[in-house]
Amino acid sequence: MPQNPEKIVDHVQLFQQPEYQELFKNKHEQFEGAHSPEEVQRVSEWTKGWEYREKNFARQALTVNPAKGCQPVGAIFAAVGFEGTLPFVQGSQGCVAYFRTHLSRHYKEPFSAVSSSMTEDAAVFGGLNNMIEGLQVSYQLYKPKMIAVCTTCMAEVIGDDLGAFITNAKNAGSIPQDFPVPFAHTPSFVGSHTTGYDNMMKGILSNLTEGKKKDKTNGKINFIPGFDTYVGNNRELKRMLGLMGIDYTILADNSDYLDAPNTGEYDMYPGGTKLEDAADSCNAEATVALQRYTTTKTREYIETKWKQQTKVLRPFGVKGTDEFLMTLSEMTGKPIPQELEDERGRLVDAMTDSYAWIHGKKFAIYGDPDLIYSVTSFLLELGAEPVHILCNNGDEEFKKEMEAILSASPFGKQATVWIQKDLWHLRSLLFTEPVDFFVGNSYGKYLWRDTKIPMVRIGYPLFDRHHLHRYPTLGYQGGLNLLNWVVNTILDELDRSSNIAGKTDISFDLIR
Ligand code: SF4
Repeated sequence: MPQNPEKIVDHVQLFQQPEYQELFKNKHEQFEGAHSPEEVQRVSEWTKGWEYREKNFARQALTVNPAKGCQPVGAIFAAVGFEGTLPFVQGSQGCVAYFRTHLSRHYKEPFSAVSSSMTEDAAVFGGLNNMIEGLQVSYQLYKPKMIAVCTTCMAEVIGDDLGAFITNAKNAGSIPQDFPVPFAHTPSFVGSHTTGYDNMMKGILSNLTEGKKKDKTNGKINFIPGFDTYVGNNRELKRMLGLMGIDYTILADNSDYLDAPNTGEYDMYPGGTKLEDAADSCNAEATVALQRYTTTKTREYIETKWKQQTKVLRPFGVKGTDEFLMTLSEMTGKPIPQELEDERGRLVDAMTDSYAWIHGKKFAIYGDPDLIYSVTSFLLELGAEPVHILCNNGDEEFKKEMEAILSASPFGKQATVWIQKDLWHLRSLLFTEPVDFFVGNSYGKYLWRDTKIPMVRIGYPLFDRHHLHRYPTLGYQGGLNLLNWVVNTILDELDRSSNIAGKTDISFDLIR
């Protein structure tokens, strides 16, 4: 039956119609092996046990649902934090379509990134001509203030040299000689989007600050948010710094780009850190990174080249935010204002209100290393007990850091930190050692459907729920949001599991 243009139905209803059902049935019988429902059920049950778990963890050559993105995703995310910047990907179109849609689906915003559209001829002869033409077209058509170049796997496999290509493109007259074109090699067969973020941030800062070092500092502090997808966090950070009266530069602020006001007119480059401020960042007093594992190379660069002090401060939960504010106060001599102290008190009050529901609850978490560190630290403050901590893009350093905070807490003793494991591993863990809730991005939806374990959506990407990324998760205000999401997921589940009248409703209470 064709769609009625007067009443377009969502595919949820559309595919229930008889002709689609018939089509699915035929497809199943003719192309999908057509195992009996009993056989499917038998195998499904087997995959939930310990025997399968052991086989699953012995798996080496295959990754299933890896819970990480590829390097250029992080690189273009970093690039759009700078004013007027167009990300340019040296590689194939298909990859760049994936990067753009991944970010657009999360933010429900357009995301502009161009590709040099390398195809078979470039794979054989190299992508220099694509770069020369691509930079010229991008410069003339989209009128950026800066073009930030990264690569896909294809360009890396054939060995394209970005530095030489950009010089050649400038010599060929594609773009003016003094036009900023920072670059980062971002091979996705190593690392993840967090590595790509770090590579691009280092690439842009080294380009913009070249020859800008002065004898005197500018009195500011630089803040690097890292691959933090909560646009509310940059805004919350600026609000807190404003309350403390600290002069700062955010490297780089993509919150307006990723959450632009709808004015009826399309702006290709909303907001972003001014290029001149970024260029002057090498003259700051210090640089504070809000994430450790997305800023490793950038911090090393800042320390060695700018001779500038760097610190990692993760302002999540009570303890993390306390340390953040107190360290800033020490660094700047500025006192922590009463308004922030009041916010702390309100978070502590809210945690006390919800503590009984969270204390002792077992949980699993997966995501990027710094997000796992921050959210787990906060949940430990609430007496929740992590059991499975899974980080596909975590390394041994991350594992050690996690084990240190787990062993320092009375609630962290039963946790195991799994690095370089995927969501199919997590499925085995959740079935064999169930927990009360798990924390993760939208891909966890399939784990939720399989295991029926309540899911708290925190992380990236969040494709299937709206607006969560607009809230802050850092600072005391952000702590309230994290607390809200966790405790109300637990209470929703309690209502769901106690709502059969006359049977389970003995605890179907109005007041929790
Ligand atoms: S992993 Fe490589 S080939 Fe795949 S989308 Fe990323 S850059 Fe492209």
